[in-house]
Amino acid sequence: MYLKLIRQLTPPNFPDREKNFSAMALHTILTASVFLTLFSILPAIYANPASTVVIMAILPAQIVGIHFNRKGFVRETAVGYLAIVSLTILTASWFSGGVLGGGTIFFVPLVFVAGLILGNRSGAYYGLLCTIILVVLYVGQVLGYVQPLSTNPLTLAQLHTVVLIISILMMVVFTHLALRGFRQLLAQADANRTALNHTIQQLRDTTVSKEAAETATKAKSEFLANMSHEIRTPLNGIIGMTGLVLDSPLTNEQRDFIETIRKSGDNLLTIINEILDFSKIEAGQLELEIQPVNVRQVVEEAVDLLATEAVKKGLELTYYIHHKTPSTLMGDVTRLRQILVNLLSNAIKFTNQGEVVVCVDSQTVDNGQTRTHFSVKDTGIGIAASNQARLFQSFSQVDSSTTRRFGGTGLGLVISKELTEMMGGKMWVESEEGKGSTFHFTITTAVAPFARPAYLSGDQPLLTQKKVLIVDDNETNRIILQQQTASWGMESVLAASGDEALTILHSNNHKFDVAILDMQMPAMDGRMLAEKIRQTHDDITLPTILLTSLGLHKETSDGRLFNAHLVKPAKQSQLYDVLIQLLNDNISANRLTAVSANTRLDTVEPIRASLRVLLAEDNLINQKVALRMLERLGLRADVVANGQEAIDSFKRQRYDVILMDVQMPEMDGVTATDYIRTNWPTDQQPYIIAMTANALSGDREKYLEVGMDDYISKPVRIEKLQEALTSYTKTKLPSY
Ligand code: ADP
Repeated sequence: MYLKLIRQLTPPNFPDREKNFSAMALHTILTASVFLTLFSILPAIYANPASTVVIMAILPAQIVGIHFNRKGFVRETAVGYLAIVSLTILTASWFSGGVLGGGTIFFVPLVFVAGLILGNRSGAYYGLLCTIILVVLYVGQVLGYVQPLSTNPLTLAQLHTVVLIISILMMVVFTHLALRGFRQLLAQADANRTALNHTIQQLRDTTVSKEAAETATKAKSEFLANMSHEIRTPLNGIIGMTGLVLDSPLTNEQRDFIETIRKSGDNLLTIINEILDFSKIEAGQLELEIQPVNVRQVVEEAVDLLATEAVKKGLELTYYIHHKTPSTLMGDVTRLRQILVNLLSNAIKFTNQGEVVVCVDSQTVDNGQTRTHFSVKDTGIGIAASNQARLFQSFSQVDSSTTRRFGGTGLGLVISKELTEMMGGKMWVESEEGKGSTFHFTITTAVAPFARPAYLSGDQPLLTQKKVLIVDDNETNRIILQQQTASWGMESVLAASGDEALTILHSNNHKFDVAILDMQMPAMDGRMLAEKIRQTHDDITLPTILLTSLGLHKETSDGRLFNAHLVKPAKQSQLYDVLIQLLNDNISANRLTAVSANTRLDTVEPIRASLRVLLAEDNLINQKVALRMLERLGLRADVVANGQEAIDSFKRQRYDVILMDVQMPEMDGVTATDYIRTNWPTDQQPYIIAMTANALSGDREKYLEVGMDDYISKPVRIEKLQEALTSYTKTKLPSY
C-alpha cells in the first residue's frame, strides 16, 4: 500500500521530493491515528466517559485530513490536524485532570510528527505551542478551574504508562515507515536522475551523430561535385569528338553507331547533372532566384520542348491556364520550368496513347501571396497505389524493370518535390493503374504587378457573341477551346467528329462566324471536313482554322481550304490573334483570306551555315531548351556545364560560336571569356554570345566590354537566338 502510495505521490520531478515525503508521512500518521483513536476509546472510557466524546470528534477531522492530503494540501492538512488534536487534548485535559490528565502525554509524539511533516522549525514552534498549552492547563489547575481527574479503576500511573507505550509504538512505527518511504523516494530520485543522465547522453550522442552526418553529407556532395566534374570532362571529350566525326563523310552504318555513342553520352551527362542537382539540394546548397516569371511563357516553353516527343508518339499535348491565374509571379523561372519539364517528360514517357494535359489555376492566400496549382495529367500506364508512396523517394522507380525499359535515374520526382517544397508548396500524385496519372504541385509566391495582355482580360469587343464551331475528337481539347473562346465572350458549339460537325452545320439552327477544325480525327479528318464544308454552297465563306500537329502542318497548310492554321498545342495568344484577324476582315464571297498563324515554330528559318557551337550552361533544363532551339535552327551543339569545361573543350577543338551562360559554378562565363580572349590568337577566336538572366539595361555594354561579342537575355527566345546567330553569320561569314 505504501509502495503504491509513494508511486502515486512521487512524480519523476525531483524538487517535489520533500512534499511527496511529507504527504506520505502525513497519510501514514492520519491512517494510523484513525486506528489509534478507535483504540484509545477504551482507556478513555475508563478515565472519563466525557472525554470519549471529545476523542471521537477527532475521527471525522482525521478522515477529512486524509482526503485533503490526497488532494495535495499537505501543509494545510498537517497544520489543521495538529490544531484540532491540540485543541482536543486541551479540552479533554481541562475537564479531566489538567497537566496530569492522560491526554497531555500525546503532545510528545505530536511534536515529533510536526517536525517530521512541517520541518524542524515548524516542529519547534509547535513544541512551544504545546508548552503554552501545558502552562495554561497548569495555571488553570492552580487557580482551580481545571476539573480533577475522575476516579476510575485505572490508576493515573497505569494510564500514563499505556499512553506512553502507545506513543513510543507510534514513534517507532512512524520512524520506520518514514525512513522506508524516504529511502524509496531517494531510490526513485536516483532512478530519475539516471534516466535523465541517460537522456542527456543520448541527446549528446544525437548531436554528435547529427554533426557527423552533416559533415558526411557535405563531404559527399563535395565528392559528387568533384566526381561529376571529373566524369564530365572526358565525357565532353567523347561527345565533342563524336560531333567532329559526324561532320566527316561516313557510311550510314557508321553514322548510326556514332549517333548512338553521342546519344548515350548525352544521357550519361544528364544523369550526372541530375545526381549533382540532387546532392546540392540534399546538402541545402541550392538557392532559388526570385524574379518575375511569366506563367504562360514557362508553361508554353515546357510544352514546346516536349511537343516533338508527343507528336512522335501520337499523343495530344495540351495546356489550359485558368484566366484567373496571375500572368506574372515572383519566383525561379528555371526551377519552375525544370519541374514542369520533368513531369511532362515522365507523362509522355509513360503514355502510349491518349493525351497529356497541363492545367494551371491559382488562389489567393494570406498576405497577398498566391498559391498556384499546376497539374500534369496523362492517360498512360498509371502507378499502382502500393507504389505511389515510393515515388518521391530517392533512386526509387516503381519497379526496377522500368529502368531497363525507360531509362532514368529515379531522381526527377525527388528533385521536383524538393523544389516545390522550397517554393512553399507540395507535390502529390493521383493515379490508377492502366488508366493514367495526374501529378499535382503547388507553389506559393508573390504576384508581380504587371498588366495582363489583351487576350487575357475577359470579354473582347471584337469577339463577343461571335459563334464558333469547335470540331475535335479529343474531349479535353474541345473543353479547353470552349473555355478560351468563352472567356472572350464567344459562343461555341462543340462537335466530336466531322459527321457531327456537318450535321450541326446543315441543321440551319446555327450560323457560325468561324470554325476551328482539328486535323487528326478518325474517320473524317480536318482536311476532308473542310472540303465538305467548302462544297456546301452556304458555307463557302465560313472562315476555318486548322489545328495540326507539329510535323504535319506543311502538308495541310492549304490556303484554299483553311484561312489559318495553328500548330498544336495552340497558344492562347495565337488563337486570339487569328480570331481577331479572321473575324474582322471582310471576307468577300469568293475570296479566302489566308491568315498566318505566325507561330514561333513556323517562322523559324534554319541558319544556313554549318556552325560548330558550344553551349556552356549549368542548368540541365536550360541546356535542353537551348539545344532544342539550336536543333530547330538546324544546328547541333556540344554542351559543357561551366567555364572551365568550356575552356577544356575549346582546347580540344575549335568552335565557331560559344553560347556562354554568365553565371556558372566553378568558373563563370566572364572569366572563361577573358581566358579565351587572352590565350588564343585573333584568327582562332570564337564568337561568344553571353546568356544571362540579369537582363538590366547597360548589361549589353558590360558584356561587350569583357570581350563577349553579343548578348541575349534568359529565358532565351528562339527569335533572339536566331538573330544573334544570323548577325554572326553575316559579319563573320560573308559567303553565306
Ligand atoms: P526517372 O528519371 O526514372 O523518370 P522520376 O523520379 O522522374 O525518375 O520517376 C520515377 C518513377 O516514377 C519512374 O521511373 C516511373 O516508374 C514512375 N512515374 C513517374 N511519372 C509517371 C507517370 N506519369 N506515369 C507512370 N509512372 C510514372
